Amino acid sequence: MSQHQNNLNPDSEAHLNGPLFQNALTTFDEAAKIINCDPNVAARLRKPRRSLTVSIPVRMDDYSVKVFTGYRVQYNSTLGPYKGGIRFHQNVDLPEVVGLAALMTFKNSVLGLPLGGAKGGVCVDPTRLSRTEKQNLTRRYTSEISAFVGPTKDIPAPDVGTDPQTMAWFMDTYSQEQGGYAQPGVVTGKPVEIGGSLGRNHATGLGVIYVCERAMEVNQMQMAGARIAIQGFGNVGSFAAKFAHERGARVVAVSDVTGGIFNGDGLNIPEVIEHVKQNKGVKGFPGSQTMTNEELLEVECDALLPCALEGQIDTHNAERIKAKIIIEGANGPVTNLATKILVANGKFIAPDTIANGGGVIVSYFEWVQDIMSFFWEEADVDAKLKGIILKAFDNVYKFKLEKNIDMRTAAMAASISRLEKAMLLRGLYPR
Ligand code: NAD
Repeated sequence: MSQHQNNLNPDSEAHLNGPLFQNALTTFDEAAKIINCDPNVAARLRKPRRSLTVSIPVRMDDYSVKVFTGYRVQYNSTLGPYKGGIRFHQNVDLPEVVGLAALMTFKNSVLGLPLGGAKGGVCVDPTRLSRTEKQNLTRRYTSEISAFVGPTKDIPAPDVGTDPQTMAWFMDTYSQEQGGYAQPGVVTGKPVEIGGSLGRNHATGLGVIYVCERAMEVNQMQMAGARIAIQGFGNVGSFAAKFAHERGARVVAVSDVTGGIFNGDGLNIPEVIEHVKQNKGVKGFPGSQTMTNEELLEVECDALLPCALEGQIDTHNAERIKAKIIIEGANGPVTNLATKILVANGKFIAPDTIANGGGVIVSYFEWVQDIMSFFWEEADVDAKLKGIILKAFDNVYKFKLEKNIDMRTAAMAASISRLEKAMLLRGLYPR
């Protein structure tokens, strides 16, 4: 059957043509081939299960009504309820949300979580909304998708442009629509006062450092005394820097939108954190040399932690990266082509699906605590995070050695393999 006969209206698949999703499918196809994935399973995993588009009318401060467009894509729920963040950004569209929902599916699977993958978003520049407008938008978006979410169905979380306050409004709206009964388990990333988890704030940065330590171990290196460079000094980068510093590493360079700072003897990270609070950026930190973000990526160091944006290491600079190991704190900081160059040059990459998994792992803990109505101490959260993230790393590392492939492909292979087993056990309805 020709492609045309199989798919009578090519426009009906336009939401599958986004670059993020197509990129994920490239790694998916490579990994599926390596593990001889059942072709029927692979065909099902290459498409999202449901894509919901909603109109969101919002009363603005000047009493006009603006109608925004929002999405929730539920990619796959074989392993458990759907889980994935909500993004408020002016570039959000359905193809992007499909790509992000697919990535959540593969991430949750490789991390061994009992969760499926989803993502949501609204096409809006949240920086142009007042607090009231943002609250109105969040509440109406929640209402529009409320039939499809819930503690046993689909559990959103914050992403770009949304935060704990947004999650609090989401939880309140959903709870009001369920007769007014509190439903904390419907979203994660909430403030601690209404069912959030201790340890969530630093979870991703701490996970990055647990993974970095293990990556060093398998490469016969050690954290104490290691030279580390970190791009991005926000939630992920600043906590990663703090935990690396506490473990005796020399954090020689960090950067943010204001530029980069370098000190070969190691920066005093608690003081850099204080400096950022006062000055809104790392720039001008006393006793440091200034460097550009580009220079930071190429600095002489043992481990490079890109924790800012996607696509930072590509074919233009991959050859000049000196770090022996690269831990992807951000989502997609190293492109597929750059990965090939780095691996050929003997570099070790811990891929984002594992390296920045600390956030979703502690989101999972938050959901579990909400369902049990029993809350854990921060030390318990940190210890359980360590157990899960290192188990995922070790599993993927084993796959890498067995199949003689790079860590990114191995992570995808391990992820598909778990999904494949579960899908074959559950079977196809109706058969
Ligand atoms: P954030 O907004 O708190 O921090 C981003 C940091 O990057 C800031 O320091 C900012 O100044 C810096 N930055 C922005 N543009 C830059 C540029 N051009 N060059 C250098 N630095 C730049 O965001 P975050 O929560 O730390 O997220 C960072 C990355 O990690 C994103 O890719 C995000 O998707 C990913 N991530 C975050 C979490 C989480 O729990 N926060 C979880 C998983 C993945």
